[in-house]
Amino acid sequence: MKNLWSQSEANKIVKSNSKMGIGKELALRVYTSRLLGNNKKLVMHGGGNTSVKCKTKDYFGNLIDVLHIKGSGWDLGNIEAEGLPAVRLQELLNLLKLDKLTDEEMVNAQRNNLLNSSSPTPSVETLLHAIIPYKFVDHTHSDAILSILDQLNSQEIIKKIYGNDALFIPYIMPGFILAKKAKHYLKKHPKCKLIILDKHGIFTFGETAKSSYDAMINFVTKAERFISINKCKVIKQVKNYKKNDIFTVENIAPIIRGILKNFKAADYKNNIILNFRTNKNIFEYVNGEDLNIYSQKGTVTPDHVIRTKPLPMIIKLNNLSNLQNFKDYFLSELRKYVRNYNSYFNNNNKISGNNKVKLDSLPRVILVPGLGLFSIGNNNKSAKIVADLAETNINVILDAEKIGNYKTISKTNAFEMEYWSLEQAKLKRNISKRFDGKVVVITGGCGAIGLSTANEFKKEGAEVVILDVNKKKVEDVTNRLNITAIVCNVTSKSSIKSAFKQIIELYGGVDIIISNAGAAWTGQIAEISEKDLRDSFELNFFAHQLVAKTAVNIMINQNFGGCILFNTSKQAINPGNSFGPYGLPKAATLFLSRQYALEYGKYNIRSNAVNADRIRSGILNESFIKKRASSRGVSENEYMQGNLLQKEVLAKDVAKAFMDLADSKVTTGAVLTVDGGNISAALR
Ligand code: ZN
Repeated sequence: MKNLWSQSEANKIVKSNSKMGIGKELALRVYTSRLLGNNKKLVMHGGGNTSVKCKTKDYFGNLIDVLHIKGSGWDLGNIEAEGLPAVRLQELLNLLKLDKLTDEEMVNAQRNNLLNSSSPTPSVETLLHAIIPYKFVDHTHSDAILSILDQLNSQEIIKKIYGNDALFIPYIMPGFILAKKAKHYLKKHPKCKLIILDKHGIFTFGETAKSSYDAMINFVTKAERFISINKCKVIKQVKNYKKNDIFTVENIAPIIRGILKNFKAADYKNNIILNFRTNKNIFEYVNGEDLNIYSQKGTVTPDHVIRTKPLPMIIKLNNLSNLQNFKDYFLSELRKYVRNYNSYFNNNNKISGNNKVKLDSLPRVILVPGLGLFSIGNNNKSAKIVADLAETNINVILDAEKIGNYKTISKTNAFEMEYWSLEQAKLKRNISKRFDGKVVVITGGCGAIGLSTANEFKKEGAEVVILDVNKKKVEDVTNRLNITAIVCNVTSKSSIKSAFKQIIELYGGVDIIISNAGAAWTGQIAEISEKDLRDSFELNFFAHQLVAKTAVNIMINQNFGGCILFNTSKQAINPGNSFGPYGLPKAATLFLSRQYALEYGKYNIRSNAVNADRIRSGILNESFIKKRASSRGVSENEYMQGNLLQKEVLAKDVAKAFMDLADSKVTTGAVLTVDGGNISAALR
């Protein structure tokens, strides 16, 4: 493992922090925490933690010892000084003199001793950091260390690699008891250079940020070397998982998404996003002959369990012949999974005193031999975290199996962690929004109306995907707005197919389609060329049909309804002079919206249109506005406000109309007018 310490980077961060009144030690603590946090083989998503013991002045001007420890909710990779709140060290050490302390009392005592009462809650491993008698303490869940710790004879291997340098502590759940035990062990081995927590991770320490970081890299490198020398077994592969045209990700993901969402018995209440992943390691893992054994033992380090559940679900496609088979098979496997989870809960809840409330029993990871893995979350962010953790589990277990036999904590210990109130508290920070977990696809998404709609839906929690034909704009949106944008020509079948394939791999399906892409062709109807008229129909009618048709078929497979919204423009209702070539296909699209409403209402798929007029956009651009205004002998503002309400209609107003229609659960076949009032374009 590469040591990434750079003295000039370290100096830079010390300098920039000192301008904010942050001391050198804390600044360097931030620096090496980020080095650790950005190494995926050491730390994943909130895992791992670091600390530094400093002196500081309290309110009375007294110099006191404090422990700066990673606060809950921060990631080491992008941590700032405020993510390492200061806790009075002596009080933490005093706590360890107690014989008993409940988890709630521990958290309360730690919060009570924060120097700044608005700081985040100190890590659940705070007391362990406090008891280690070094200035800097680094803790990671290194992949290589875990591949060794997740063995039956882990203690023996640790001894072989580190001799007497390592203090080995058998598995105990993090918290007060572990810190007490560590205190006891440390007294016996005061000269140890690293601490190993069996089935959990590694601690290194030192008097400087660099020495503690160097120790982490060196000790992990030793573990990596041991693994590469001792890889003696291969993961035997099942050979007959050949590529199949029926059970592709595009075909099965929406079915899985739908069954999971509709499966009430799992007590899962949120929307579902599926994230698909595959790569060489995932393939080696899911295609292993012993997949049913090594994947069903538990997570590689305990705190993954709150996000991944103790066990993944496995589905095997080799005996299925069509998608109906797949639906039946998946449902029956899901029932089995939920039954097993419930009995795991009941058995362990009995052991722990029947005082826990069952969480939902839906799987979070689905392994599919021959294909890869799906992760499940209530939004894309959480699904990605689950997928990242699943990949880490796969990498660690593969290595563990190659050097021996993967062995992790017992189901009872996993339960204790999954139902630990301090772990569950980590998940409860999200405030739910109106479109959480809904996948919204917007065509013509880089235009004024498209972008405004994308932003409004994103603010309300939706997973937004923009499709646009302009590659440069797509790149700009991706980089600037952090919105998924895909280059797609909506008049091309193959381009639409490939865009929806990407959408399904990222999100598992679609919920709301905003068919918005359009462009104006103008000319007197008796003079327009056939080609121009046909081109206008391609974009302003057939593209709407292609997008809607593709989306509706995905929605039918999901089997929980959906919503299609068309941007039809005022021209669909009220023809304008020379706008025939634009208005004709738009009128057909308005009819198309009603046709979908009529035929797909039975699937709870709603279809509505927005009839907007005079919005500043690619179609109605500045020079066009100038021309129209002067031809009518009015100012540009008067032209833009030329409606009954005398107000300019903004792209944001159209966005709001799309959102309102998306949220109107019993409205279908409707047209919503967004034009400031124009009686000749009013529907009757
Ligand atoms: Zn840990």
